[in-house]
Amino acid sequence: MDTNIPVTSQPRIVIVGCGFAGLRLAKDLADSPVQVVVIDRNNYHNFQPLLYQVATGALEADSIAYPIRKIFAGQKNFFFRMTGVQHVDTARNTVITSIGEIRYDHLVLATGSLTNFFGIESIERNAMQIKSIPNALNLRSYLFQNFEKALLKENPEERQALLNVVIVGGGPTGVEIAGSLAEMRKDVLPKDYPELDLRQMEIYLVEAGPAVLGPMSKDSQEKAKRYLEDKNIHVRLNTSVKRFEDCRAYVSDTEFIRTENLIWAAGVNGAEVPGLPAEVVARNKRISVNNWNRVEGQTNVYAIGDVANMVTEDMPRGFPMLAPVAIQQAEQLADNFKRLLRGDAPVPFKYFNKGSMAIVGRNKAVVDLPGDKHFGGFFGWLTWLFVHLMTLVGFRNKVVTFIDWAFSYVSSDRALRLIIRPYKRTDFKDDKGKATAEHNAQTPQYNPSVPSPDAEVVGR
Ligand SMILES: Cc1cc2nc3c(=O)[nH]c(=O)nc-3n(C[C@H](O)[C@H](O)[C@H](O)COP(=O)(O)OP(=O)(O)OC[C@H]3O[C@@H](n4cnc5c(N)ncnc54)[C@H](O)[C@@H]3O)c2cc1C
Repeated sequence: MDTNIPVTSQPRIVIVGCGFAGLRLAKDLADSPVQVVVIDRNNYHNFQPLLYQVATGALEADSIAYPIRKIFAGQKNFFFRMTGVQHVDTARNTVITSIGEIRYDHLVLATGSLTNFFGIESIERNAMQIKSIPNALNLRSYLFQNFEKALLKENPEERQALLNVVIVGGGPTGVEIAGSLAEMRKDVLPKDYPELDLRQMEIYLVEAGPAVLGPMSKDSQEKAKRYLEDKNIHVRLNTSVKRFEDCRAYVSDTEFIRTENLIWAAGVNGAEVPGLPAEVVARNKRISVNNWNRVEGQTNVYAIGDVANMVTEDMPRGFPMLAPVAIQQAEQLADNFKRLLRGDAPVPFKYFNKGSMAIVGRNKAVVDLPGDKHFGGFFGWLTWLFVHLMTLVGFRNKVVTFIDWAFSYVSSDRALRLIIRPYKRTDFKDDKGKATAEHNAQTPQYNPSVPSPDAEVVGR
């Protein structure tokens, strides 16, 4: 198949992925004498930090996504093809995609990350994840569908399993989704489901480490835990979910939590693309790069953002998988391409840490700034809202998001609770998922008569 990308005399830079890193790199090359070819399997850029708000009905999906072609309208050297890259052939300077082969002079992999289930098959098969817009919409539909089902259950254990939510992973995603679900339980669900006793709905946040928000300051960790507990979220530290079978989330060999709703936010791997030598694929499937993001051992292949494993003295385990790292690596690489075109030497990447933050529902957030400064509470919450609003792509998205947030704040309500997706748990798989037709045929449900030998239930 011909991909119909015009051949020009300019060097062609192919960028795989239009997330934070790919988008910024393609923009920063707008005025350079190069042809920029962006490939993404979606035709939109997705603002992942607000996915959890789509999942909990606070924002509509369109507010956190923006069409790639619209972002680049008017950029003359820009070409986009919507397809998945399946393979890289470095010997032929070509990427193999579902619409055909695309030749490159320089290749930049900006493919981000995928959920890491740590090889636990029962969790991969049955848990929900939150890495994409379809994931978030599925999650929202699935939760609301389970509330509808809970209304019909006579058996208290079956009803409890439908209401309970277990979130695994106490990083920002887990903390933020737990806080948002607690708000939903308090403000939204009682209006829609007056027949359900929502005091029975238990939210568990399970974290394997000794604190939530592992990389943040001790002060922020403690504050966040307190905010979560004030919202009646059970925070279980030093605990891992070892398997998820028969709607039982096993937190040890002898204890389980009844739930049909297990949200897995416990880790990510790099979304590597097959075809690179095995020795450049590092820990967590990230691709080893040198200090200016060139893939080790390659002359014209680069990796930036979550998929890049850049090890420095300060960052012996690689840079954190965060949007500012992705954006800054893209900016530096764009600058280095311009230097190479001028015949100058490339400059190593230097990370400017602007701080980190996490929101815990209404009026509460924690913020760490460089220089060991941290704050939380209402001011932290306002800071979080402002930063996220400003970094959203597109004026319309900023306005719609602001209106949705203002509406929710004033009314303590959320407009978005339509059940618009099928609800089988295996629908949470991304296109790398291994769901079988047999498993897809039925969503497993909690059955109190399934024996759990030697295991006791936690909570209700
Ligand atoms: C729920 C959630 C909350 C987060 N919250 C925060 C936060 O609060 N603050 C923060 O700094 N970071 C946060 N992050 C992390 C942040 O989103 C990532 O660090 C950032 O998106 C990385 O940017 P990237 O460009 O490397 O990858 P991505 O933004 O993931 O983009 C990768 C792109 O590549 C495309 N792609 C992948 N493989 C292929 C392929 N084979 N072929 C074609 N296209 C492909 C994908 O469709 C996607 O568009 C969060 C992440 C998640 C999931």
